[in-house]
Amino acid sequence: MVGGMAVVEGEPMSDNTFTSFRAFDAALAAAVGSKVIHCEDDVDRALADVGERLDALMFTLGSLPESLVVSQFARCERRLAAERLLAVAGRIGSSGEASVDRRRARNELSNGASSTRSINRDAWRAVALAANTRLAERAATGDVAVESIDALLKAADGTSGDVPDDLIDIVARLSPDQAASTVDRYLEDNANVGDVENKHQEQHNARRVFRYRAHEGAGRPTLSGIGIEGTDAEVARIWSQVEAAADARYQSDGGRDRPGSQHDSLEHRRFDALAEMFSGGLVGIGGAARSSVVVTVDAAELFEDPDGELVANQLGVGPIPKAVLDGYLSSASLSVLVTGLRGAPLWLGRARRHSSQAQFLSLAIRDRGCVLCRADIGRCVAHHLMPWSAPGRGRTDVDDMALLCQRCHRDLHHRNHTLYRAGTADGRYIWATRPATPAETPAPAPQHRQRE
Ligand SMILES: [Zn+2]
Repeated sequence: MVGGMAVVEGEPMSDNTFTSFRAFDAALAAAVGSKVIHCEDDVDRALADVGERLDALMFTLGSLPESLVVSQFARCERRLAAERLLAVAGRIGSSGEASVDRRRARNELSNGASSTRSINRDAWRAVALAANTRLAERAATGDVAVESIDALLKAADGTSGDVPDDLIDIVARLSPDQAASTVDRYLEDNANVGDVENKHQEQHNARRVFRYRAHEGAGRPTLSGIGIEGTDAEVARIWSQVEAAADARYQSDGGRDRPGSQHDSLEHRRFDALAEMFSGGLVGIGGAARSSVVVTVDAAELFEDPDGELVANQLGVGPIPKAVLDGYLSSASLSVLVTGLRGAPLWLGRARRHSSQAQFLSLAIRDRGCVLCRADIGRCVAHHLMPWSAPGRGRTDVDDMALLCQRCHRDLHHRNHTLYRAGTADGRYIWATRPATPAETPAPAPQHRQRE
């Protein structure tokens, strides 16, 4: 990479940072040419023409410097994917009823070459494009990536499929991961009590446990499975107990003192922990784990009028109804953190009053998970933007820290990159990475000399 910035997960949306791209764009335009108008009975000639131009494009891409080939193929993929879905959206139009449009989109998309799963996913995206003019405009210019539409769908009206225009503008130019966390925040900020109660009740009424056989292919045996579906809050609570129990197994098995290769895989630990819970021998839940549930709720509202209506936000879940919060507050096996809506922790339930714990929770509330890939907070560590041992002398201060999952954390240090806040046009920031300066580079520790 020549100096410029790169968001680690996902390509930056505006990737024209290299002057050599000008030359590339010119070559691309020459290869694709201007639009050719064909008459209806000239289909064969048109198809042959597409084939030729496609070959020319592949040739152009293939002749790029090796360092650019992958990113430029990705760029073409993004553009083609957007155009394909816009074409489907144009054909189905919008009836105002998303379920009808979705069926029509699936028909347009079924061509035998795609899996049912990807057809379903693309149908959702095409319907979103058909229902939202603004989204279609911004997808056509490449401002909104096709993958980011999935995040926007969470904010779509259930019947009409309408997505708020202001949210579409906020998400424009963000990577799909950044778009996903931005939409979550938008929904939390705009949640109203009635919607939250309704959604929770609908999920509760549809709760189920079922058994199935999983055929994944690709060398994996056919497996037996049990699916547990219910409210976001309840499933998150169950999952956090599985994670806590899996982590307890890891710790009792030697934890970090033992090389990773000698440990059972995380998947195995989760399964064994869950199986043990059901075998009657309940393993210690909660004891070794971090606080299982982090809820942000306006403390003034909660304490001044305990029976009043309010919306609380559960980390990793989103808005939850008051009844669920009450359940948490009276539960002996959970730690609940109550904070001001966006402020520092005010009250640390049963969580240890350890400063690092409080800091971690502050970061958890601000960052919600890995700031690069959105991994769950349970997998995250607090990362110093300025390494503590570097010449720049990092401080253990929440403003100078961010949550990263263990994988992103390892990758960042391995590449000697620095995580920083990149300002956006509307005055907010997104997390991005760039090569570290000498002041940000820690002296190599003797035991880490294997770093290349
Ligand atoms: Zn990550």
